[in-house]
Amino acid sequence: MNNCTNEGRPCTPNSSISCTVTSCAHHCKDVDRCGLTSIQVGTHEANPAMDQCTDCQSFKKYR
Ligand code: SF4
Repeated sequence: MNNCTNEGRPCTPNSSISCTVTSCAHHCKDVDRCGLTSIQVGTHEANPAMDQCTDCQSFKKYR
């Protein structure tokens, strides 16, 4: 399936990683899925307490 960019290369949407961050280079453009096989999730907070405290650290800005 070639419906995502994954930095300009064809890729397969990962059905285990749903994502709506369309400005990410790894986001599949026709479906709300990530094109990576795995992602890193982290936090920018000292004591994360809600979902807004977490970040996808695999994010890369779509150019
Ligand atoms: S790397 Fe993270 S932000 Fe980017 S598409 Fe995948 S899950 Fe979404």
